[in-house]
Amino acid sequence: MRDNIIFKCTECGEENYLGTKNKRKHPERMDVKKYCPRCNKMTTHREKK
Ligand SMILES: [Zn+2]
Repeated sequence: MRDNIIFKCTECGEENYLGTKNKRKHPERMDVKKYCPRCNKMTTHREKK
C-alpha cells in the first residue's frame, strides 16, 4: 500500500514535489533535500500531512 504525499519547502512553504511512499515501511515523516524554485536553492522539503 503506497500513499501519495506532498513535499513542502520548510523555508517558504511552497509545495514543490509529489511522491509516494510505503507508510508501513516508513511511518515517520520524511525530510529530503531538494531544489526549491521559489527559494532558488536547495532546501529541506518535509512531507506534508
Ligand atoms: Zn522554498
